[in-house]
Amino acid sequence: MNKLGNNTKTAKAEKFNYENLIMHFSPLKKARTILKAHNVEVLKLLQKRIGGTIDSNLLNEGLKINVCKFAGACAKYCLDTSGRGEFSNVQIARTAKTLHYLMHKPEFLNELEKEVKNAIKRTKKKGLKLAVRLNGTSDLDFTSFISREAVENKDFSEVQFYDYTKDFKRFNRFLSGNLPKNYYLTFSYDRLNHKKVYSYEAMLLTYLERGAKIAIIEDDLKALIAKNPTFGNYAVIDGDDHDLRFLDKNVKGGAMVSLKLKKTK
Ligand code: SF4
Repeated sequence: MNKLGNNTKTAKAEKFNYENLIMHFSPLKKARTILKAHNVEVLKLLQKRIGGTIDSNLLNEGLKINVCKFAGACAKYCLDTSGRGEFSNVQIARTAKTLHYLMHKPEFLNELEKEVKNAIKRTKKKGLKLAVRLNGTSDLDFTSFISREAVENKDFSEVQFYDYTKDFKRFNRFLSGNLPKNYYLTFSYDRLNHKKVYSYEAMLLTYLERGAKIAIIEDDLKALIAKNPTFGNYAVIDGDDHDLRFLDKNVKGGAMVSLKLKKTK
């Protein structure tokens, strides 16, 4: 069963000669809520995905996991209910997929690997390059998957992976060049993370000095510049134009990636 898909934003990638695939999970611990509301449907789909009996211990452990550990204010305006996500069947499918991953990670990743390899062949035939965002609505560390040896002893070096993250440690590893070369990260600003990190703004300015691109909601950017005008010295990229964030490398130095707050249900 497919793990990768697309949406209206990823569909804009073709004008840049890319096919852009995205993986959507149920964010935060929302799998628990969806399972409660649509128990029969989720379990039926989950069973189909894992191809066997559901282990209730694994299920209970999976339900405890927050796939967006660093979420703050965004938990209120998460895009998981925008676009196709507004339909309950989509929420159910995403929940079954999330639980599949959390309960049977190695099997899930093996299937994902095959899907990526097939996508490489398909996009090559179309004369396109492949861009994959694994954290469409999650913030998990997939770096070991991206750097793994794939079937036929080939790696994923011809795939451009990218993500947005609020995970400071992973982002620092990225800025220090310690993540796979084909993985690009954009740091995701969250106004509530001031409370989690001492000197949050100073840390962001250090990131910008090191050439980072920081995604931020338009209104948060205005408020941030009003509070600390130094942020106004950096270029602003229109983040709604497309989702191929790795192309932001073409903008020299640090920059803010401004995003409009989308309507969610
Ligand atoms: S981290 Fe991303 S996916 Fe998770 S709640 Fe925030 S906006 Fe949604």
